[in-house]
Amino acid sequence: RVRPLTCAETRRGDRQVVHSLGDGTVHVSAARHEATFGFSAVFDAGASQEAVFEGSGVRQLVELAMDGFSCTVFAFGQTGSGKTYTLMGPLTQGETQPVAPGLLGLMQRSFSCLLEQSRSSELALSASYLEIYNEQVRDLLSPGPPRALPLRWSKTRGFYVENQLNVDFESVEAITELLLQVSSLAGAQRRRTSAHALNKHSSRSHALLTIHIRSRAVSTHPALGGGSGALCGGANSPRQGTLCFVDLAGSERVKETGSSGELSVEANSINRSLLALGHCISQLAKPRGKRTHVPYRDSKLTRLLARSLGGAGIALMVACVSPSSRCLSETLSTLHYASRARRVTSRP
Ligand code: ADP
Ligand code: MG
Repeated sequence: RVRPLTCAETRRGDRQVVHSLGDGTVHVSAARHEATFGFSAVFDAGASQEAVFEGSGVRQLVELAMDGFSCTVFAFGQTGSGKTYTLMGPLTQGETQPVAPGLLGLMQRSFSCLLEQSRSSELALSASYLEIYNEQVRDLLSPGPPRALPLRWSKTRGFYVENQLNVDFESVEAITELLLQVSSLAGAQRRRTSAHALNKHSSRSHALLTIHIRSRAVSTHPALGGGSGALCGGANSPRQGTLCFVDLAGSERVKETGSSGELSVEANSINRSLLALGHCISQLAKPRGKRTHVPYRDSKLTRLLARSLGGAGIALMVACVSPSSRCLSETLSTLHYASRARRVTSRP
């Protein structure tokens, strides 16, 4: 997704070097760079939030999640490229003025879609919200000061976060309220943000919101009980799908952001996770016979995403880029990264 030039970029006379050519291709043209990339879909500056929701396949992911699959949407790109805007829409500053419905992001649109369906098909919905900051996993929903939670592995569950809160919800308002609480100014200390040469709102953490979808039909069957989330075998076993939205930290290289001291510790942790994600994607993009070990264990992010990246999940990467000439090298690196991701196949 190519975002529009911002006012600041227009004011200082940045040139637009990224253009969508239609047919799912995007062209980058600048003095010494000419490159065309192909994707399943390309959205340019004029694309509405609705168009991105309908055209990127997120609606299908929501449906697959309701059918019991593990689905993940992740937004990748440098700080300021539009990741948060794409997932959540413009964040309201200070006073919580509601966002115009047309500007709501992929997450709110997915919630509406899920809740509409849940009324007719008896789905029970719950959410968990984690951040990875400096290679520590934190629960954004737990009250009190943020606390690192251990990330464990078991044969049956794969990687999971111990003692993670999981909150039931039954309306779009409830889940949106949850999101707002965490991302609004009141929650600013929780979702790490720091003033920064590149973008003062730059987010230095990875945020993962997961919706757990259980078919409620299970509670009508006494033997299966309810609430534990345990999966039982047999023809009547409940389906349990997940839909996860990942707002990745900025992918820009450290030297370009002028980080120092504590910030560079942050930047290194961010890069460690993104680097590991890149390595996993590179391995997964190889034909099955040519793959070597996929290094999921190299970072917290890749452990948590292991299931959706690896075998059984369905994942969508939304690569966000700025059209500005000043962002050229980051834009090219994002597009190369996304091209590798596109070659990954999974067997859901
Ligand atoms: P990121 O999360 O990647 O750091 P943001 O989502 O915060 O970037 O976007 C940076 C700025 O650009 C914000 O002011 C946002 O409102 C604006 N923006 C991003 N994408 C769009 C878009 N498609 N249309 C209009 N404004 C956008
Ligand atoms: Mg952001």
